[in-house]
Amino acid sequence: MERFDVAIIGAGPAGCTAARKAALGGARVLVLEKEDGLGKRVCGEAISEGALEDAGIGRSSDFISNEIERVRIHAPDRSKFIEFSRKDVDMGAGFIIRKDAFLERMAEAAIKEGAEFRLRSPALDVSGGAWDWRIRVGGDRGTYEVAANLIIGCDGANSMIAKKFFDRSCYMVIGCVQYTLCPCSIEEDTIEFFLGREVAPGGYAWIFPKGGGVANVGLGSRGKPAKELLERFLKSFPDKFSGSKRIKEGAAPVPISGQLKSVVRDGLMICGDSAGQVIPLTGAGIHSSIVAGSIAGEVASRALREGDIGAGRLSEYEAEFGKVWGRRISRSLRALRVLESLSDDDLNELAGILKAEDVLDLANGLNVERVAKYLLRHPVFAAKIANKLLFQRG
Ligand SMILES: Cc1cc2nc3c(=O)[nH]c(=O)nc-3n(C[C@H](O)[C@H](O)[C@H](O)COP(=O)(O)OP(=O)(O)OC[C@H]3O[C@@H](n4cnc5c(N)ncnc54)[C@H](O)[C@@H]3O)c2cc1C
Repeated sequence: MERFDVAIIGAGPAGCTAARKAALGGARVLVLEKEDGLGKRVCGEAISEGALEDAGIGRSSDFISNEIERVRIHAPDRSKFIEFSRKDVDMGAGFIIRKDAFLERMAEAAIKEGAEFRLRSPALDVSGGAWDWRIRVGGDRGTYEVAANLIIGCDGANSMIAKKFFDRSCYMVIGCVQYTLCPCSIEEDTIEFFLGREVAPGGYAWIFPKGGGVANVGLGSRGKPAKELLERFLKSFPDKFSGSKRIKEGAAPVPISGQLKSVVRDGLMICGDSAGQVIPLTGAGIHSSIVAGSIAGEVASRALREGDIGAGRLSEYEAEFGKVWGRRISRSLRALRVLESLSDDDLNELAGILKAEDVLDLANGLNVERVAKYLLRHPVFAAKIANKLLFQRG
């Protein structure tokens, strides 16, 4: 039977990065991907320059569709919006990418370090334990088994690995639907978000321009079917979408309950959506998954070299990720819990009070405490938001 040091299940942003880092550290790496290509799952494809840096991949027209200058967040009554551009705030460059091409670049980088990728190769089941995992693989070659010393589960929100080996009782997702539309009459350098219980209860709608009149237009919601709401949202903008046709359509869940309590076991780690490592308020998970995969891949190769892949040793991954990204995720979760309790009237009023930096801090789980202290001065929002942001646990 073939034996690998590290088997990685799933070749999304987390899996491709984990593969490169583990192979770079000298491990013999196998990546199993169930689809026949990379980046098949629907995604808004918005990414920051920081994410490209952490992915170890420079800007390239190979995968960058469009560069974004401005962010606009519409209040529920659409008469107010908060808008900021790169010139106004300390915000790095932002892009809409072609995620399939981006992941291909990441996979190429991993392959150059010695990792092996197998497409159309779903991991059907996993048994055994540290130093002797057995993975049953399906697909074109028929069903076969491979052995691995260590497994990194990067198999997304419906992760077989996380469901089988980790406690996901608190794991919550929001259903999202997205169309890629063309031609759209939109501002090509601006990404737009639309809030409100009528538009997207428990979520939001987005317009992410890909350039040349093409846009990813999507919606995430709780309690009401996202597809119906998206259709209604599109009809409410005949000026933008009346002549638009669908090039692509997809639906997928986004985890919004924060990171799982534990993401390592003996000889086993999980990264990315499988571990809930998404910024809950925005649903952005590409950057955090890249960082998680990067740390997990590095820790895996070092731990294997040292001959200790017990949960204690692998918890270095959990600790490293927790320092920056774990904190951001839990702060953003706190902000989400508070904001989702607000009425549309509250959100309309808030749109007139919050500044660009406040929105960025809240959404990205950055300096949530600073925003809370600012809102403490407001007669209504002091109790409704500020106290909860400061004192409620995520
Ligand atoms: C509609 C939508 C829009 C989004 N927009 C954005 C955005 O604009 N910006 C952003 O930062 N984030 C966005 N996200 C979130 C982002 O897509 C994810 O957080 C990110 O891709 C997670 O990376 P991952 O590697 O953990 O998982 P995934 O990207 O889900 O990759 C998992 C991979 O594992 C494979 N797989 C699953 N099971 C198996 C198996 N048993 N065997 C083998 N392979 C398997 C899958 O085919 C897939 O390729 C969006 C999500 C959705 C649903």
